[in-house]
Amino acid sequence: MHKKIIDDLYDVIIVGGGVAGLAGAITAGQMDLRALLLEKAVFGGSVAVLETIDEYPGVEKIGGWELTQTMVKQARNSGCLLFDSKEVTGLQAEDDSRFEVQCHGGDRFQAGSVIVSTGGRPKLLGLKDEARFAQKGIHTCAQCAGARYKGREVVIAGTGRFTVRAALHLLELGCRVFFITGEAKIFGDVSLIKKLLSHKQFHFMGGSHVTKLSGDKYLQEIEVTDLVSGDRERLAVAAVFVYRGIVPESSFLAAQKDAQGFLLVDENVMTSLPGVFAAGRVVHEDLPIQVLIGAGSRAALSAAAWLQ
Ligand SMILES: Cc1cc2nc3c(=O)[nH]c(=O)nc-3n(C[C@H](O)[C@H](O)[C@H](O)COP(=O)(O)OP(=O)(O)OC[C@H]3O[C@@H](n4cnc5c(N)ncnc54)[C@H](O)[C@@H]3O)c2cc1C
Repeated sequence: MHKKIIDDLYDVIIVGGGVAGLAGAITAGQMDLRALLLEKAVFGGSVAVLETIDEYPGVEKIGGWELTQTMVKQARNSGCLLFDSKEVTGLQAEDDSRFEVQCHGGDRFQAGSVIVSTGGRPKLLGLKDEARFAQKGIHTCAQCAGARYKGREVVIAGTGRFTVRAALHLLELGCRVFFITGEAKIFGDVSLIKKLLSHKQFHFMGGSHVTKLSGDKYLQEIEVTDLVSGDRERLAVAAVFVYRGIVPESSFLAAQKDAQGFLLVDENVMTSLPGVFAAGRVVHEDLPIQVLIGAGSRAALSAAAWLQ
C-alpha cells in the first residue's frame, strides 16, 4: 500500500529506478523513511531487458523483467512512493538539511537526503554512419536484440565482463561470433572464457578495432584494422554488438567525479556533497548487479544514519 505524502519534505529522494535505486527504495521504505523514487523512463533500468540472470546468489535463473518488477512491488509494499516518467534535471542544497530536486517540466521535490542511482548510457564506437545503423545492425545488448540474428555472422566489439556472456548468448543462437577488441585478451569469468575459446564458431580478434561500417538500409559489412600493423580487413556481418562501457548519467550533479564522470563516494557511499549518496553503475562501471543492489541498500542505510 502507498504511504500518503504527509507534507512536502521527504526523508530521501532516490533518483533513478534501476536495480540500485530500487534496492535503495526497498531498504528506505523498510526503515520507515518517507521515500520517493523518481525514474525518467521505465522502472527496472538496464536489467529489465536482460533475458536471463543466472549469477544472482540464491536464484538459479530469473528473467530481468521478473526480477526488477518484483523489486518494484517490494519497494511499493515497503511504503516508498514511485514515479516514472520524471526526469531529474537538477539538485540544489537549500540549507544544511534540505535538498530540492528539480524535474524536467518544472516539478520540484524536497528531501533531507538524496540517493543518486542514475546508471549511464552505452558508449558507441564513434564511427560515421553508426546512428544510421542503430537497431539496424548496431546494438548495445546481445541478450535483447541477438535473437534477430540467429545463425548469422555477428561481432562483439569492446571489452568488459558482460562481453563474455553476450558472446556465449550469440553462440547459443547459432551465430558465428567475431570478438573484436583493442585488448590482447578477454576479461571475465575464466570458466566461461574457456568455453568461448573452445567453440568452433568463435573467433578472437584481439589488438584490433572496427573502423568502418557499411550497408544500404541495414549493416552489411565492416572494416577491421589491426592496431599494430595497420592492416585492414573487410568482414561481411549482420550485426555489431558494442560493449564500450557507459557514459555515467551524472551531469545534473555538482559533486566530485572521476575523469569519465563516475561519481566518487566514501565508504558510506556518500558523495562529496554531504547528505547526497550514490550507488550503482553511476559509481562503478563494471560490477555485477548483486554488488550494485547491495550498494543501493547501503545508500539507504547511510541516508537514514545521516538523517539522524
Ligand atoms: C547489454 C548488457 C548486458 C548486461 N549483462 C549483465 C549481466 O549479465 N550481469 C550483470 O550483473 N550485469 C549486467 N549488465 C549490467 C547491468 O545492467 C548494470 O550493471 C545495472 O543495470 C546497473 O544498475 P543501475 O541501477 O546502477 O543503473 P541502470 O540499470 O542504468 O538504471 C538507472 C536508471 O536511472 C534512470 N535515470 C537516469 N538518469 C535519470 C534522471 N536524470 N532522472 C531520473 N531517472 C534517471 C534510467 O532511466 C534508469 O532506469 C549488463 C548491462 C548491459 C547494458
